[in-house]
Amino acid sequence: MKVAVYSARKYDTDALTRANEAEGNPHALVFHDIQLTPNTVRVAEGSEAVCVFVNDDVGRETLRLMSDMGIRAVATRSAGRNHIDAEAADELGIEVRSVPAYSPHGVAEYAVALMLTLNRKIHRAFNRVREGNFALDGLLGFDMHGKTVGVVGTGLIGACVCRILLGMGCRVLAYDVRAQQSLERAGVVYMPLEEMLPQCDILTLHCPLLDATRNLIDAEAIERMPDHAMLINTSRGGLMDTGAAYAALRAGRLGSLGIDVYEEESELFFEDRSDTGLTDELLARLVALPQALVTGHQAFFTSEALEKIAEITIRNLSDMAGR
Ligand code: NAD
Repeated sequence: MKVAVYSARKYDTDALTRANEAEGNPHALVFHDIQLTPNTVRVAEGSEAVCVFVNDDVGRETLRLMSDMGIRAVATRSAGRNHIDAEAADELGIEVRSVPAYSPHGVAEYAVALMLTLNRKIHRAFNRVREGNFALDGLLGFDMHGKTVGVVGTGLIGACVCRILLGMGCRVLAYDVRAQQSLERAGVVYMPLEEMLPQCDILTLHCPLLDATRNLIDAEAIERMPDHAMLINTSRGGLMDTGAAYAALRAGRLGSLGIDVYEEESELFFEDRSDTGLTDELLARLVALPQALVTGHQAFFTSEALEKIAEITIRNLSDMAGR
């Protein structure tokens, strides 16, 4: 198929080209570093499929325009599908494929890296030492061993997080619509979210963004957590109310916040914006807080994951071409 690949960075281009070559170049991949929106969809003229990433706009309007252009397939290089209007795609007969499992370990390890960095303040120590400041004041952390961590969503990624934390000697509580018996046998205790929140030294989010999970962690939920609690979100920005988290950090009602995702990230992430500075006011205020750590959606970003994503995406395109 001729495929218009949107939001293509050099690492995507390299990995997809390699994966396509490994299969004997079944697809003509045309790479574009712009985002897919209703305004940029025309770039895909003449293609049979588009390949997208998390911040591309695959809403009803884009899909309608794609359908008019004869595009019948969408392959997203992500596990999450919340950027795609599945109902509209269905109505228009556009097939959608994602990469449900590529490297849950990479994302899980990153969530734990955020916990450890925030806890032991390694990001602050890094800056201090570069300026010749070896003082330890303000860098006091806590042992992870024995602490209670709440995991929301124990699918592929959440399950890896649970196992890493159990290995560190944490008490692991979980909330999911579906409990995993193997995790229960390993020592994870499932309970309703309201019951879990007051017990959490750390809360980490690993469920998908759905209508049912949008703003799951809002001001009220944060209020239920202990004042010293750490909140980690490597899943999707829309799962939490970032404004409420910022207010709670400022008021001393939340201990720390580590986020790799942000609800408004589509206008910001994956680009070098160092010349303009941060135009998003909430994010600018958040990154100025010492107890907040923000990264730009990089939890998935390991060489193993990139390779797997590319391999599965090429296979998804081939499957859709065969229909
Ligand atoms: P998964 O489908 O394997 O697991 C999701 C889990 O969430 C399942 O156990 C499911 O039962 C649970 N769940 C569904 N609805 C729920 C609800 N209402 N309340 C509580 N739990 C609910 O998915 P995964 O591979 O573990 O990925 C989880 C999420 O991580 C993805 O949806 C994606 O948004 C995010 N993600 C982020 C990155 C990144 O780079 N930051 C990378 C990959 C995935």
